[in-house]
This record gives sequence, structure tokens and C-alpha cells, in this order.
Amino acid sequence: MQKQEWKTNLRALVAGGAGFVGSHLCRRLLQSGYGEVICVDNLQTGRIANVADLLCSPHFRFFEHDIVNGLPVSGALHEIYHLACPASPVQYQKSPIHTFKTSVLGSIHLLELAKEKGARILFTSTSEVYGDAQVSPQNESYWGNVNPFGIRSCYDEGKRGAETLFHDYHEEYGVDTRIIRIFNTYGPQMSAEDGRVVSNFIVQALRGEPLTIHGDGTQTRSFQYVTDLIEAIVRTMRDGVPHGPINVGNPYEISVNDLAERVLRMTGSRSPVVYKPLPQDDPCRRRPDITLAASVLDGWKPVVGLDEGLSQTIAYFRQNMNQVV
Ligand code: NAD
Ligand code: UDP
Repeated sequence: MQKQEWKTNLRALVAGGAGFVGSHLCRRLLQSGYGEVICVDNLQTGRIANVADLLCSPHFRFFEHDIVNGLPVSGALHEIYHLACPASPVQYQKSPIHTFKTSVLGSIHLLELAKEKGARILFTSTSEVYGDAQVSPQNESYWGNVNPFGIRSCYDEGKRGAETLFHDYHEEYGVDTRIIRIFNTYGPQMSAEDGRVVSNFIVQALRGEPLTIHGDGTQTRSFQYVTDLIEAIVRTMRDGVPHGPINVGNPYEISVNDLAERVLRMTGSRSPVVYKPLPQDDPCRRRPDITLAASVLDGWKPVVGLDEGLSQTIAYFRQNMNQVV
């Protein structure tokens, strides 16, 4: 009860709050009793529909704004969550310079705001900082194997540069920074047009279209359900959590071929699979070592298995798509 009363005094800003993860976070903060949640989003990949149910809340405010262009905020601000950035390779490669600016210039603007307001600030980094990892599972001390000069670089290097800024704003100005490195996360409120593998496969299966497997489909990913990520984000903002990067993901590893098979089985779809060329620099393996998260986030670990998460996500797309079979 005491905790709830304390949170009513909190004012939080969520950059990228109308996106897939951001909209779940805004909802969770409001449910926890935050006094005000300010959602800032340029709607590049986010959608008003993701936060439509929150717009009538007196505790929620939405601003269509690009964080590349600075961000004046009047009044007190206690927490900043920096989720702004398209996460799907298809989306972030549409405008690579803007993607890079969002991570680097956008981070500078939000870090300056945190410095001015004395706010705690969290950055959603990514497993992409490990690039085409040569060790598996990846832990936080691995420096990665990233191509700085390719089609994924705007995202990977933008996130790496932003991590550097978070490190330096903490060291030089004492800003209270947090960083999580998120591994592939999926769930309801992903856009059907997002382009990432889980939403693509589900949408293709429900539409009766071929599932597009890139390469030979033996590459692996480890998929985390969105509610597990949100719990980790909330815990990362607690007192006493270290400023360095923390992996957040589900260590259950699966090949893209096996994921396609599972989606076909769970949707009951008769879609065929087709093989497409593997995009440049597509990592072969991705699996998080979450030992650090378990130790610094009060024993946090993912609790939603792949079948359960897929079934929730399939149900979401069935309800939210017109062209279902
Ligand atoms: P998303 O594309 O659904 O959401 C990103 C949101 O940021 C969108 O609403 C978009 O409109 C907004 N945005 C982008 N550029 C902006 C700008 N310049 N100014 C203001 N708003 C801007 O992606 P998501 O999956 O919700 O990812 C959220 C964050 O988590 C991203 O920073 C992403 O890099 C990070 N992340 C996600 C995953 C994942 O698997 N979901 C994995 C690693 C990291
Ligand atoms: N992928 C695929 N078919 C698709 C979309 C993606 O086979 O329609 C592959 C992609 O090449 C990668 C994996 O699935 O090997 C995960 O891709 P995603 O875009 O979801 O995220 P990434 O981990 O590559 O950032």
C-alpha cells in the first residue's frame, strides 16, 4: 500500500511508448499507480492503436514527437525509459541514418534531460551489440563481433554508441543510468507489418501464405515473451541495480526451421514454407546468459514458455487481422 502511494508521485517519460514493448510498459506503469506517464513517439513503427485504451486516463499523456529533435519537458521528471528505435531489421533499414541518429542523438537528448531533472534513465540496448557472436551463450563481458560497415550497422553500432553515452554520462555527470540488452522479444501488439520472424510467420500462417525462411533456417534465436521483458524492465529501475549492461532474454534456443514448424502446428495452417536468401550479416546463433539478471534483479527469470507465448500471440493476431484463414 505504501509503495502504491509513493508511486502516485512519480512522473515517468517513455520514449517509444506507442511501439510494441513501449505500449506494454506504459500500461504496466499506469497499473502500478504512477502519477503521470508521458509517452513520446514519432509513430514511425508505433501505432496510436497500441495505446488507444490509455488515452482516456488522466495519468497518461501522448506526444507525437521525434527524439532526434530534442525534448523540452517542463516540471519534475523522475524516470525516463528510452525505448525509441525501430527494432525490426526491415524497419530500421528503411532509414538507416535516422535509425543511427535516434540511438545516438536521441540518447544525448534524453540523457541531457535526465541530467537536468535528476531522473533515473533506462536504455533498451540489444543482443545485436554481440553481432554474429563467436561465443554462445553470450554474457555481458563478451565484446561482440559486429560489422561496422553493413546494412545492420545503423542499428548495432547506434546501440553500441548509445551504451557508450550511457556509460559516460554516468561517469562524467553522475547520471543514474541503467542498460538492458534485450534478446528477441515477441507478443501481442506487434504490428502485422513489423517484419520480424515471429510476427511474420504467424501472419503468413493465418493468411495461408508461404512462411518465408531466410537462408537454410538453421540459424537460431532465443525468444522471450513480452511480459517477462516488462517485469525485467521494472526491476531494473529499482534502487541498487548496477549501471552496467544486463542481458534480458529467454535462454530457450530454437532454429528458424523449428519455429516455422511450431507456428504451423499451433495455427493449424497448411501454408508451405519457402526459402529466401539469408540477409547480409544475419547472426547464426543467439542465446542469452542471464546469470547476471537473476542475481541483480531479485531472482528474475523468464516464466512464459514458447508454446504459451506463441499461443497468446497467435490469439492476438487472429483477433486483429482481417484476412485470417
Ligand atoms: P517497435 O519498433 O515496435 O517500437 C519502437 C518505437 O519507437 C515505435 O513506437 C517508434 O515509432 C518509436 N520511435 C522510433 N524512432 C523514434 C524517434 N526518433 N523518436 C520517437 N519515437 C521513435 O520496437 P520494440 O520491439 O517495441 O522495441 C522497443 C525498444 O527495445 C527498441 O529500442 C529496440 O531497439 C529495443 N529492443 C527490442 C527487442 C525486441 O525483440 N523487441 C530486442 C532488442 C532491443
Ligand atoms: N527471418 C526469417 N523469415 C522472416 C523474418 C526473419 O527467416 O520472415 C529470420 C532472420 O533472417 C533471422 C531470424 O529469422 O535469421 C530472426 O529475425 P528477426 O528479424 O526476427 O530478428 P533479428 O534477430 O535478425 O534481429
